[in-house]
Amino acid sequence: MAVPSADKVQEIREVTRIERIGAHSHIRGLGLDDALEARNVSQGMVGQMDARRAAGVILEMIKDGKIAGRALLIAGHPGTGKTAIAMGMAQALGSDTPFTSIAGSEIFSLEMGKTEALTQAFRKSIGVRIKEETEIIEGEVVEIQIDRPATGTGAKVGKLTLKTTEMETIYDLGQKMIESLTKEKVQAGDIITIDKATGKITKLGRSFTRARDYDAMGAQTKFVQCPEGELQKRKEVVHTVTLHEIDVINSRTQGFLALFSGDTGEIKSEVREQINGKVAEWREEGKAEIVPGVLFIDEVHMLDIESFSFLNRALESDMAPILIMATNRGITRIRGTNYQSPHGIPIDLLDRLLIISTTPYEEKEIRQILKIRCEEEDVEMSDDAMTVLTRIGMETSLRYAIQLITTANLVARKRKATEVDVDDIKRVYSLFLDESRSTQFLKEYQQEFMFNELAPSESMETS
Ligand code: ATP
Repeated sequence: MAVPSADKVQEIREVTRIERIGAHSHIRGLGLDDALEARNVSQGMVGQMDARRAAGVILEMIKDGKIAGRALLIAGHPGTGKTAIAMGMAQALGSDTPFTSIAGSEIFSLEMGKTEALTQAFRKSIGVRIKEETEIIEGEVVEIQIDRPATGTGAKVGKLTLKTTEMETIYDLGQKMIESLTKEKVQAGDIITIDKATGKITKLGRSFTRARDYDAMGAQTKFVQCPEGELQKRKEVVHTVTLHEIDVINSRTQGFLALFSGDTGEIKSEVREQINGKVAEWREEGKAEIVPGVLFIDEVHMLDIESFSFLNRALESDMAPILIMATNRGITRIRGTNYQSPHGIPIDLLDRLLIISTTPYEEKEIRQILKIRCEEEDVEMSDDAMTVLTRIGMETSLRYAIQLITTANLVARKRKATEVDVDDIKRVYSLFLDESRSTQFLKEYQQEFMFNELAPSESMETS
């Protein structure tokens, strides 16, 4: 494994700095105070106080780790912040609690069956907190540097002091690597390679690598040296992996590197059974505990009757995560049947859900959200332009208005202005149609389009 030159590292860092600004990147939490009351504007969240408070109560229950297998439905009009609230919950939970987010339609893929996709989503949302005892010997460091994970994993062992925090990198790669490391008796200064499929470690030779080299490679670990003469014997290390990660690591056909590429394919049920058995053993021995995380399914009305019955059953398991679902549908057909039901969800599943509803925004809330988005996208906007954009948001949709921010800013930059003005907003409003103007256009010119079958009363169907 070649150490990249300093120039190259610099280049990589420059690229990573250009981050995409996602639709919910301004959301940093639920914006609640200690008494779980929602602050009007906080952590990027505006209004929707009741829904945020309700989400906060659920959050406390999740943090306590006392509940499993509960399900929550966030229902409300399009663009009323359902996904934003779920994202706020994810942020507030922190990184130790697994949070998986999928859209209902994602499970219909060619690569794997529906139930397999749902099972993987469930198992990605269940953490296993494993406690392990590690021997720490003064003067030794095991530092694993992972580079080019898609093509192969190279690891180097340096020669400083072994610290438990540094070991976590190894643990994240899974049990197999740890076993392998111990078995091969990897020493300070060894250069090793790790087999993609099995996680088996082979020693290549010895070298001395300084902490500085690792820093240059962008290693995230810190080097801390034990005080001279201090011998720390056994220390407890706690690390959390998800059930899905354990599945993939132990799946003979995949190997742990599939974790990096995401290309895991279907996992055999025997592997899962074995793992469940092993985890149950660890729990009994007090070596591991289950951390129920959160599985968020957006656009849940896109699931079909089979998936719903899978969810019903999966929620019964004592290792089930908290399920949060969101939908903007009213009474609609349950996919895969001819029956109608509220939100397109079967009544037996609905019956076990806690339901939070979101309400449409008032003008000042829309204005506030648009202001936050302008800050997030680094866009300066005059007060008048903001007033016009807020009106557009009220009359069309919040999402449409949010989208006009970036485009209006481009128009303003074209005329070398630093601030978006009313004219820029007007220009993009006329360039890009919102949903109702687009429908109007279709109605007027429907003869000109191909395959035109839109009857006046027909609305979009999801099937
Ligand atoms: P849909 O039903 O169409 O999926 P939704 O209810 O999930 O819509 P979001 O995607 O959460 O709506 O909201 C649309 C946009 O407005 C997002 O960029 C979101 O971050 C932002 N937004 C919505 N509500 C709030 C809020 N209360 N505070 C801050 N930003 C919000």
